[in-house]
Amino acid sequence: MREFNLEKIVRPNIKQLKAYSSARDEFKGVAEVYLDANENPFGTLNRYPDPQQVELKQKLSEIKKVNNNQIFIGNGSDEVIDLAFRIFCEPEKDKALTFSPSYGMYDVSAAINNIELIKQPLLADFQINLNQLQPYLEMEDVKLIFICSPNNPTGNSINKEDIEYILKNFNGIVIIDEAYIDFSTSASLISAIEEYPNLLISQTFSKAWGMASARVGVGYANQEIIKLYNKVKPPYNVSSLSQEAVLSVLNNQEKFEIEKNIILNEREKVITQLSQISSVKKIYPTEANFVLIEVENAGKIYTDLVEKNIIIRNRNSLVNNCLRITIGSPEENKKLINTLQNL
Ligand SMILES: *Cc1c(COP(=O)(O)O)cnc(C)c1O
Repeated sequence: MREFNLEKIVRPNIKQLKAYSSARDEFKGVAEVYLDANENPFGTLNRYPDPQQVELKQKLSEIKKVNNNQIFIGNGSDEVIDLAFRIFCEPEKDKALTFSPSYGMYDVSAAINNIELIKQPLLADFQINLNQLQPYLEMEDVKLIFICSPNNPTGNSINKEDIEYILKNFNGIVIIDEAYIDFSTSASLISAIEEYPNLLISQTFSKAWGMASARVGVGYANQEIIKLYNKVKPPYNVSSLSQEAVLSVLNNQEKFEIEKNIILNEREKVITQLSQISSVKKIYPTEANFVLIEVENAGKIYTDLVEKNIIIRNRNSLVNNCLRITIGSPEENKKLINTLQNL
């Protein structure tokens, strides 16, 4: 293992930053009269939310078997991604790396933060080319590597051995974006945060948990990384409505399992039906709640479907003539298949 040193890769201004201390940070107990935060005494949403999301972290720590201080709650994974740039990358100087094709938010977040994002093409089976990656692992100014697994838009999981090689041989932060992990047969790497001080796992309530509207993402890492995240985040970054909504779905795991299994069954059904449609040239294996297909003319099929009020994602710009189809309800999937058959 190369010598990973968190102190050395944090931006100097963040190292020196003194976090904002909110009224709710300074008094944590339960009181009768709250006159500390300039809130309005009337109403139901009049109080600021818990800035540390204690109850939610407690629940997640039980489910994920990590400590509370190894959890960061963000305003969607978008915030988990953005804060990585803000904590570790000096604008115009440092770089980050990801693979292509992959999730578009890494590009946008890098651009907003004025950081160059190096894109390494994945191999034909959408796995990482470690030989080509090797020189980048040794560059001092490459601070972050984003690995999306299962990968969006391709659907495959990235080989665990490759991820571990990168974790062991890279001195910056490795962010594994596990937005689709609940649909996957491969296990989460969450338990590896104990072993790798440079690992950050990003998960979300937006996909399998059905809470995209609540905007809640989670970062799991060792407590030193999480401390930095808590220092930089806006104090009240997750609303009380969202904290409560997510806690309530976590308290109903049975419903979660039932719905997830419906989606997984539908996925197999949709794949079988797609394979019988002549315009579908290739169906890529998937570990997520979507499937990437290759067709003869992606642009044509995309616009034909829009005309029939069915919206899928044209990924032709990322993978030639490929479309990404989210697995919907049984009715939605039936409509898609019927329409495709009749185009
Ligand atoms: C959908 C998705 C997310 C979720 O982002 P949120 O901000 O949590 O809604 C994260 N990563 C990937 C790769 C995704 O496809």
